[in-house]
Amino acid sequence: MQRNCQPCTACCEGWLSAQINEFKVSAGNPCPHSKNQGCGIYAERPKVPCRTFICSWRIEQSSLPDWMRPDQCGAIVLLSFPWEGELVISAVPVGAEIPAKTLDWLQSYARKHNRPMIYYQRPVSNGEFKGLKKLGYGSAAFRQKVAQLGSKTEEHQAMAMHSGSAG
Ligand code: SF4
Ligand code: SF4
Repeated sequence: MQRNCQPCTACCEGWLSAQINEFKVSAGNPCPHSKNQGCGIYAERPKVPCRTFICSWRIEQSSLPDWMRPDQCGAIVLLSFPWEGELVISAVPVGAEIPAKTLDWLQSYARKHNRPMIYYQRPVSNGEFKGLKKLGYGSAAFRQKVAQLGSKTEEHQAMAMHSGSAG
């Protein structure tokens, strides 16, 4: 059975960057329409990303356990994200870093399914989030590729927001 988002609004709170009409949503700048654990303009919300993005916790028959709802576990996860010619796990923190319990679970899943992972941290300076640091989990070759392509972070995230299917 497919889960409902509410009361999670993690992807409306700026943890995934997005352009919502005239407003740029980013870490520290939540969507102004996010109200009371839901969308204040639900019927008129934009198609992209609001109607097309579904994280892997919300999909039908999700492999993610109940406790990994993004606002509770601290990460927005796509378990099957196409990246550089292979399927990877993509995990974006709800906050500065993915909590250890959640990262442990994702790393265990990555090993069990032989699927590498890209995950992120948000450096904080003077109380403000300053971009995203991209990290790889998997073989040495995979980690090296992630390190080499670190500057493509924003592109990767934008693709995630427009994926339409989290896998
Ligand atoms: S992060 Fe997932 S569960 Fe939370 S609001 Fe977005 S799609 Fe829904
Ligand atoms: S318009 Fe609604 S669904 Fe879209 S980001 Fe804002 S609060 Fe979320």
